[in-house]
Amino acid sequence: MKHAISIFWFRRDLRLEDNFGLFKALSNEENILPIFIFDKNILETLEDKKDKRVSFIYKVLKNLNQQLLSLGSSLYTIHDEPLNAFKIICESYQINSVYVNHDYEPYAINRDTKISDWLKTKDINFKSFKDQVIYEKNEILKSDGTPYTIFTPYSKIWKQKLYENKIETYPTENWFSHFLKTNSFPFPSISELGFEASDISFEKPKIDFTLIQNYHQTRNFPSIIGTSRLSVHLRFGTISVRKLVLRALEFNETWLNELIWREFFMMILFHFPQVIHSCFKKKYDFIEWRNDEDEFKKWCSGQTGYPIVDAGMIELNETGLMHNRVRMIVASFLTKHLLIDWRWGEAYFASKLLDYELASNNGNWQWAAGCGC
Ligand code: FAD
Repeated sequence: MKHAISIFWFRRDLRLEDNFGLFKALSNEENILPIFIFDKNILETLEDKKDKRVSFIYKVLKNLNQQLLSLGSSLYTIHDEPLNAFKIICESYQINSVYVNHDYEPYAINRDTKISDWLKTKDINFKSFKDQVIYEKNEILKSDGTPYTIFTPYSKIWKQKLYENKIETYPTENWFSHFLKTNSFPFPSISELGFEASDISFEKPKIDFTLIQNYHQTRNFPSIIGTSRLSVHLRFGTISVRKLVLRALEFNETWLNELIWREFFMMILFHFPQVIHSCFKKKYDFIEWRNDEDEFKKWCSGQTGYPIVDAGMIELNETGLMHNRVRMIVASFLTKHLLIDWRWGEAYFASKLLDYELASNNGNWQWAAGCGC
């Protein structure tokens, strides 16, 4: 007879603490099998076999697995397409429910619809929760029920809502005994996934309270460490956004605004998925870009002859990071000086940024090019 379990499927929420979907799974059910799917659909599109993001996720998952092993459980990993992965798990286990956190990108929405439809045919529940953001989808709308397209009024309502409702955090640790007790599952090597390890490291993120307190005075200077450097952790969910917003409320409203920009662009992508290919302001789709390929190559490799542009691009190529103000400069330079289509720059950033996120990257590129919100 198959072992009866429920599943928590880690995706962009790679942490045990204050993880709402995981909290729901552990507090509602027993024998929770924690899983991660190395999604072939995503991994096979990555050209750079030393992609820093793969190494980063790999290290995060190893760390997560260590924590699970110390609780007498283990992370079950599968390298496949998500639907196949569930078919494989169904061969060994009798699954009651699958728990996840919402993911708002178009690929993820399609994937989750396909999986939940298939699970339904097997009488398996698919339960999804809000964890990645404070306010999602339709939670912040104009009085006429349509989405905001301008940041300032959106952020005003966002804050008003926040002051009216207390933020809750979720003590998953009270329920850790509900993880499935099991021997250690095999964990693939990075080469089995088709990649090589890069020099990127993973350490549990820490919030630097002094830095956050001074953020409004330090954030504009790329030469100093004056910003939180938490974007990669927000990207992969190795830190909880609720905890960050609670700290922002306590220490610095300017920093809170940055966290709201993140949600603003996620909301824009959710309501206007056409921005992936087109300008948010449609009339700018008719710009005749100069698109000089040699100039683009020089921009990519940091050889334009403009020191701050080149410094930023070299930093990006070497570390996967770039200060926000420098991102704005290089994006402006590409679109408004070299007159190259913002989508070329967006795609280059997408291939290199450690914190790459479709909504923030697209929104900021369109903003820099002047064709966005
Ligand atoms: P902090 O200044 O400490 O801010 C705290 C958090 O707020 C960040 O970690 C981030 O999650 C959020 N945030 C800050 N600024 C923005 C912003 N302008 N838009 C959206 N969220 C913001 N950010 C990404 O996370 N992924 C991207 O792919 C991305 N692409 C960008 C492309 C361009 C052209 C530009 C101009 C900006 C882009 N940003 C992107 C936004 C911003 O540059 C980074 O979030 C920031 O530099 C990360 O550093 P930090 O963690 O120290 O941020």
